[in-house]
Amino acid sequence: MKPIIEIKDLRFAYAPNEILNLPEVTVNAGEKVFIYGPSGSGKSTLLEILAGVQKPSSGQLVVNGIDISKASFSQLDLFRAENIGYIFQSLNLLPYLSVTENILLPFLTGTKKQLLDDQLKADFNHLTQQLGLQSLLDRPVTQLSVGQQQRVAVARALIKKPKIILADEPTSALDYDHRESFLRILFELCAEHNMTVLFVSHDRQIEKLFSRSIDLKAINKIQAPTNAPKAGL
Ligand code: ADP
Ligand code: MG
Repeated sequence: MKPIIEIKDLRFAYAPNEILNLPEVTVNAGEKVFIYGPSGSGKSTLLEILAGVQKPSSGQLVVNGIDISKASFSQLDLFRAENIGYIFQSLNLLPYLSVTENILLPFLTGTKKQLLDDQLKADFNHLTQQLGLQSLLDRPVTQLSVGQQQRVAVARALIKKPKIILADEPTSALDYDHRESFLRILFELCAEHNMTVLFVSHDRQIEKLFSRSIDLKAINKIQAPTNAPKAGL
């Protein structure tokens, strides 16, 4: 098994508070990892560091062979565009744009400007079909159910075939049956391209669907403050 994420002595602080101190974590390519911890324990912060949105204060972080702990912010932008698909807690869809426009959003910015090439069209058709979105493509995303919006967010994260999918509690607004079907579709699509999934949540009900689970508290030497922030943040 080939490691795709290697964390060593990684530390991060929102000054003056240290949030994360992770001696060692390794994730292999193709794994589906569930990382759990209560609100305020640093789950979103960890994903932001892995996506190159936040820089660690020290330590080593090798993602897909690149040591991103030493990269500049412009190198990180490129790294993110080429390697990471992010599914946000709040989904971050643009409300006035259609399903199609939201999915193709990664191509309106960044380095890959092959907006109309055949491969992209084929990928778009495949993804929207798998996700049951084909009859909804021209609708503004504000006219979709939460479950449908989540499928749009998945399509947007996967359209560039990134090596790693980072998901920040995207299922928290769904009931159990919808959470399970959401994950099954996500895993099916990720398996097609051997993508690695890191999914963080405070809700352990879905843990059993993953290939491995990690207790953030157990791997983090910093213990979260007892006055947790408001739920969902
Ligand atoms: P989780 O996603 O597990 O709920 P977060 O990673 O959002 O946790 O937050 C971890 C800790 O960092 C919390 O104590 C939170 O209050 C703090 N924190 C999060 N974002 C910021 C920020 N921008 N500035 C300062 N502190 C922050
Ligand atoms: Mg969070």
